[in-house]
Amino acid sequence: MNSLLFLGTGPGRPVAGRFSSSCVLRTPGACVLVDAGEPCSQRLCEAQISAADLDAVLITHAHSDHTGGLPLLLQAAWLAPRSRPLAVYLPEELIEPLPAWLDAVLLPSSLLGFPLEFRAWKAGVPREVAPGVEVTPFPTTHLDQLRQIIDPSATGRFRAYGLDARCGGRRVVFSADLGDPADLAVVLAQPCDVLVCELSHFSPEDLFTFLKGRSVGQLILVHLAGDLAGKEDLLREAAREALGGAPVTVARDGELVGF
Ligand SMILES: [Zn+2]
Repeated sequence: MNSLLFLGTGPGRPVAGRFSSSCVLRTPGACVLVDAGEPCSQRLCEAQISAADLDAVLITHAHSDHTGGLPLLLQAAWLAPRSRPLAVYLPEELIEPLPAWLDAVLLPSSLLGFPLEFRAWKAGVPREVAPGVEVTPFPTTHLDQLRQIIDPSATGRFRAYGLDARCGGRRVVFSADLGDPADLAVVLAQPCDVLVCELSHFSPEDLFTFLKGRSVGQLILVHLAGDLAGKEDLLREAAREALGGAPVTVARDGELVGF
């Protein structure tokens, strides 16, 4: 049995009752962390998953609500102690600044006691991130607007990816953060067993209209915009109708979903 354990399902700003984006993908042979929003290391601890037991960490994009828990996670791995290498898959633009960040919080690689391996995503190129877990990143337009505001001439930065994961014959698509539901058009051209989709950067109506008639075995909504709090039942019903009755979960922190 494969499962998803949602450590944090909140939006990009702090809200009561939901932490920042982070999720554990577990198969009979692998344990992978998808995004490292804070306080993922504390939530792993509560779930009795040691940082020493993670096979890989997958970072979809640089935003702090997806990366903010990384230093304490690595500190937890150091103190566990961990000895086997840890691969962190991430946008290439993070590979240079991340070691500087870790040095600044007194976690240089020389201290950790295990090899920390940064591996850059390449859109469309599948990677076996853990035994039996193959992940293909796909680009999203989530950071396009921010690029215009911060540095329109930037090349090689502001990359955001969704993840298309295959494990044990099952296919799980993580939207991560999108610019628009249409960012999922290519990856959802084929049926998927599970879609883990954010709901912060567009209206629920836009998402459900886009999903109508697509082959999604089950939908799990995460990263809920703050103004959707209390509307979970309505969201579930509307999504289920769009997907022709497929199961829909509006995930809460700590929720475990099998697939
Ligand atoms: Zn983001």
